[in-house]
Amino acid sequence: MRITLGDILSGRVRFVVRRRRRKLPETPEVAALRKEAKAYLPVRLAELAAEHGFEFNSVRIKHNSSNWGSCSSKGNINLNLNLMRLPEELRDYVLLHELCHLRHMNHGPEFHALLESLCPNHAELRKRLREYKLI
Ligand SMILES: [Zn+2]
Repeated sequence: MRITLGDILSGRVRFVVRRRRRKLPETPEVAALRKEAKAYLPVRLAELAAEHGFEFNSVRIKHNSSNWGSCSSKGNINLNLNLMRLPEELRDYVLLHELCHLRHMNHGPEFHALLESLCPNHAELRKRLREYKLI
């Protein structure tokens, strides 16, 4: 069937234009953050894990605008390249938060007790983290 402009304008034929998801090239700023993040974050995560007796399965560097990091039940940790824009103690706080999820896959009392033991000022750090936006 040939669809004419008239068909569309009259509403006889309706279709949805699906916008193609195209990956835009990274800005130089984001590319630089990614490079830094790849060199630094896996090493720092491994250091903190060793120091506190955690074992994770994998670590990946991500760029998203929804979270600073995440941890799956399989022990796969994702870290946002935006972490490189944070002061060191805030960055470590996020890493410790994700490591604590290796033992508790929620934000319940046991999770908080563990995080508290590793990072006593976590509540203050969490508040400070809110001042930073993901780019
Ligand atoms: Zn969490």
